[in-house]
Amino acid sequence: MNLKGKVALVTGGAQGIGRAIAIRLAQEGADIAVADVDIDLAQTVLAEMKSRGTAAVAFKADVSDSFQVEELIKKVMERFSTLDILINNAGITRDALLIRTTDEDWDQVIRVNLKGAFNLTKSAAKVMIKQKSGRMVNVSSVIGLMGNAGQASYAASKAGLVGLTKSAAKELASRGITVNAVAPGYIQTAMTEKLSQAAKDAFLSQIPLKRVGTPEDVANLVAFLVSDQASYITGQVIQVDGGLLM
Ligand code: NAP
Repeated sequence: MNLKGKVALVTGGAQGIGRAIAIRLAQEGADIAVADVDIDLAQTVLAEMKSRGTAAVAFKADVSDSFQVEELIKKVMERFSTLDILINNAGITRDALLIRTTDEDWDQVIRVNLKGAFNLTKSAAKVMIKQKSGRMVNVSSVIGLMGNAGQASYAASKAGLVGLTKSAAKELASRGITVNAVAPGYIQTAMTEKLSQAAKDAFLSQIPLKRVGTPEDVANLVAFLVSDQASYITGQVIQVDGGLLM
């Protein structure tokens, strides 16, 4: 999966799945731009990548803000002159039962998880269309495919990403750009660490492979999807969930 000479932008890349994706793509030779609201944490990812000889830069950006995203893409282009790979990974949860979900929490989840990906897709597409090539991967979730009590806002945002993925795939295919989604199951990160023990046990009991996923499990699939080996795959939603949903 040689990614030498490619430039990848990973949102929410300071920790968890985004961090693992950034490091994995760097291992394959890509130069990396990490974007996150937590710039200090994002900086810590860089050292690990630079030691492998690839260029790596961290940018502070809130994906839900279209102005900040336009500026982010400009900065990536100033630094690298190209953008080959976009990973829309930044995401949040504001879990609550439907009748207790506030307007603010609903809006915030949709703004970050769905509008954030739209903002990045739109800005990056302008660059990739000119280049006549590109790879985009959206990090959805099995929750977007199966729903979950207490996660209506999150499930809606992740289901929305599926629609965005397929529409963008159809719209951009003629320009040599593929757009796919990955749908992780229960992956060990800060996001799932805050689940109650009962919720963790309930998920685990439903996973045929009988283990929690690692961020690297997701990163391995993403590395394949952005490589030349996946050049005939677009508009797909691929689960990395130990068999949780089948
Ligand atoms: P995580 O550990 O919480 O990491 C997410 C990163 O995104 C954090 O560094 C976070 O910063 C950053 N972020 C949040 N809002 C942002 C914004 N508006 N702009 C830019 N960056 C922002 O989460 P994760 O578990 O790695 O999840 C990564 C992605 O995978 C998410 O889209 C999530 O929905 C998806 N996913 C995760 C799982 C799982 O089991 N973990 C399963 C399915 C899908 P702060 O921490 O400072 O907010």
